[in-house]
Formats: sequence, structure tokens, C-alpha cells
Amino acid sequence: MATRHLIIGGGTAGMNAMRTIREEEKEPSEITLVSAERPYSRMVLPYYLDRSVAESHVFTATAIQLAQWKVKPLVGRRAASLDTKANVCTLDDGTKVEYDDCLIATGSSAVRAPVPGADGRAVHSFWTLDDARAVIDEIKPGSQVVMVGAGFISFTILNSILSLGAKLTIVEVAPRILPRMVDDTGGELVDSWLRAHGVAIRANVKLAKIEDAKDKKRLKFAAGPDLTADVVIMATGIRTNLDWLKDSGVVIDRGIVVDERLRSNVPNVYAAGDSAQGRDLISGKGAIHAIEPTAQEHGRIAGANMAGKPVAYKGSLIINIVEVCHLDVASFGAWDDAKAEAISGLKKDRNAYRKLLFTGDRMTGAIIIGRSNDIWTTNDVGMLKGLVQSGTPLGRFKEHLRRNPFDVKTAFIASKTTHTLLPETVLGRPSKAPGDSPVAV
Ligand SMILES: Cc1cc2nc3c(=O)[nH]c(=O)nc-3n(C[C@H](O)[C@H](O)[C@H](O)COP(=O)(O)OP(=O)(O)OC[C@H]3O[C@@H](n4cnc5c(N)ncnc54)[C@H](O)[C@@H]3O)c2cc1C
Repeated sequence: MATRHLIIGGGTAGMNAMRTIREEEKEPSEITLVSAERPYSRMVLPYYLDRSVAESHVFTATAIQLAQWKVKPLVGRRAASLDTKANVCTLDDGTKVEYDDCLIATGSSAVRAPVPGADGRAVHSFWTLDDARAVIDEIKPGSQVVMVGAGFISFTILNSILSLGAKLTIVEVAPRILPRMVDDTGGELVDSWLRAHGVAIRANVKLAKIEDAKDKKRLKFAAGPDLTADVVIMATGIRTNLDWLKDSGVVIDRGIVVDERLRSNVPNVYAAGDSAQGRDLISGKGAIHAIEPTAQEHGRIAGANMAGKPVAYKGSLIINIVEVCHLDVASFGAWDDAKAEAISGLKKDRNAYRKLLFTGDRMTGAIIIGRSNDIWTTNDVGMLKGLVQSGTPLGRFKEHLRRNPFDVKTAFIASKTTHTLLPETVLGRPSKAPGDSPVAV
């Protein structure tokens, strides 16, 4: 009998797993996809918000693609429970799906600050396509938008909100913006840049309540003046979609705990993407990255192992890159490791900042900020990511970087990082795009 694979969740991780199963399997298998939403890419939503892409362009695994992969789709259905002894998943409509192995790729959901009024009219999260549709309907030129939370997700939609002609205020409970993406110096630089570009920022404020004020919203804080808005966007964190597994016996810490083949403690139950606590490349510890490249790598590795090709997972690099008002802001790896040796450089006149973190002579983390039209920013973003990802020993070029933290190119080329960086893909294939695929994965 053909192996029955069950994929739960049709986002980036689920889609990459299905694709990999079809590429790697020796015998044809059955694949069933259960997905609460029709597959689409969340990271494309900012471009849908600013109308640079049509809604039809956010979808990924289309009906045609799924048919080509011979996948049986159960879209619009939710997995409600998993019986790991009987190998049966029960859906929200009572349907039972039997499997030989299954992948949990149910991602995460937005969490709103727990204040009165957080679920009221004109208050939105920005995580799903439905959220994006609702926000698009409400933002008009001249709208006052208040974004609660100054982290990565807020910053991915900041340009889109401004491009719709809205006036934007960002409020943040931490003492400064981007507390989990850059250090204090970086945060200050980005803060000044945004203020100079017309974005109002209030950090160190605790939202207490959101009220209706005629046709507007009024935000009240534990201290300080109120704010008025037409639209409020809550970007106050996410949590994994794993409640439905509570009686399954699958071990969950912050996400599903997985081994080097992306298997949970139940050997025929795999996990991938935002819902899996996979290995972090730098720390070697289990982590939830909640980013696209990690979801893609997890999906590839889990899919290969489900198809019978044993592939060990080395871990993924945490990468945060955003561009706001033509300022690039990025951090890689262990950028906040207090034990690492830090080398930094700041050029205020160029709005440029580099912070390089070393363990021995290997770069284990980096922060880079610079104007997008500054060629050194573009070059250095890629090279710093490569240096951290490859872990190339830099030898004497560490000292060169200490003297010249902005001359990343010399260290990158001299250390032959390109030779060590991806000679093969995560699946052990040569780094060459297969077939007509534009990327090698
Ligand atoms: C606005 C925005 C911008 C982003 N920008 C970037 C970026 O620039 N770079 C980056 O790296 N990352 C970005 N991300 C994060 C990235 O999109 C996620 O990390 C990625 O989508 C995770 O993939 P996933 O497959 O794990 O989960 P998801 O893509 O969330 O997919 C999970 C799927 O599971 C389904 N599901 C949930 N529960 C169930 C259930 N019980 N039964 C069946 N199906 C279920 C969901 O409907 C969904 O289809 C962004 C996210 C957002 C919201």
C-alpha cells in the first residue's frame, strides 16, 4: 500500500514539505493536505496592502499546483485533534484522516495586547489575508493609524501604511523601538530616521484601553496623553497554533520539540515552521524563529525525511531584514549575545551602523543599518549574513574588521567565504537551481 502522508497547514513549511516529498520519494505516495486557509504567503501581505500586487498574487500552492503534486486538498478545514496511537487526525467537521506519517505545520497566530477594546471596531492584527483585507478597507489617504508594537511585523508594513497616505504613530511598551531586533544604538538611529520621515513614535508607554470616540478610536495609556486614531493595528506578538494537540502526547515546549530529522517525540509525527522548535544554527539550541527561510528549510528537511531520504538538519540562521523609508535595518544570528566580543562602528552622517559579534575568530552575530541607496549597505547586508551563516574562521581579518568595521568586503573575500557558503543545499544537492526553479533549495 502507498505511504499515506498527512500535511497539516498549507503555509510555507507545509508547501515545501509537499514539494520535497514529490521530489525525493522512490515510490509514489498519497499526500493529503488539511489547511484552515487557502495556501498563501504571509510575507507578501505588505505588498498587497500597498497595492503593489493584486490579491491573486499572494496565493502559493494553487489548485493547479496541488493537482500536479497529486495532493488531496482539504482546505478550509481545521485539524481538531490527533490520535498518535491510532494514527488518525480528526478535523473540525468530524472527518477522520488516517496517516502513516504526518507533518504539523500549523504556524502561529497574532496575539493582541490584553486591554479592554482590543477586539473592537477598527482594531486589527496584521497576520492573515483576512486581516490585510480589513486594513485595506479602512485606511484612506489622511487616515490616522496607530500601530501598537514596534517590532519586526510592524516594520514590515510601515512603508505600506505610509504609501497609502496615512499618518502613522507607533507606540511601544519597551523603552525603545525594535527591542528584539537591534541594540540601543541601532534603535536610536532608526528612531531618529523615522521621526525625520514624519512617523511619530511613543516608546515606554503601556496601552491601557481602546475606546470608541464617535467615529474614531481613543487609545488610553497607563501614563501620558491619549491618542486618537481612525485605525489601530496591533502587532503585539504571536503564539503557536498548537492548542489542538493538547491530548496527543506530542511534546510541546514553546513549540513542538523536534530532533535532527524534524521528528517530534512521536516518531511518525514531524513538525516544521513557526510551530516547531528547531535547532538554531548559532546557539545549537531549540528556537522558534517565526521567519520564512526557517519555515522553508524545516519544510524541505521534514519532507525529505518523510519521503525516506534521511537528511540531518544543521539548524537555521535567524535573519531579520526590513527596509523603512529607504533605511535598511538587519540583524543576523546572536546579535545580542552579551558573552560575544563586539566590534562596532557608527557613521552618523551616513546613518550607517555596523556591529559585529565574535566568538573566537568566527562572526556569530551582526547588526547592520544603512541607507538603502548606499551601495555599502546593500553589499554588507549580504556579506555579513554570509559570514555569520558560514561561520568562516576570519583569522587576521578579525583584526582588520576591528580597525575598519565598515570594510566587510575585504574580510569576506579574503576569507573565501563564498567557497564555504552553500556548496550544497540543505538537502545535500549541489547549489544549482534544479530544472526551471529560480532558486536552489
Ligand atoms: C505581514 C507579515 C510579514 C512577514 N514578513 C516576513 C519577512 O519579510 N521575512 C520573513 O522571513 N518572514 C516574514 N513573515 C513571517 C513568515 O510569514 C512566517 O514565518 C511564515 O509564514 C511561517 O510559515 P509556516 O508554514 O510555519 O506557517 P504559516 O505560513 O502561518 O502557515 C500555517 C498554515 O496552517 C494553517 N492552520 C493553522 N491551524 C490549523 C489547524 N488546526 N488545522 C489546519 N490548518 C491550520 C493556517 O491556516 C496556515 O495556512 C511575515 C509575516 C507576516 C504576517
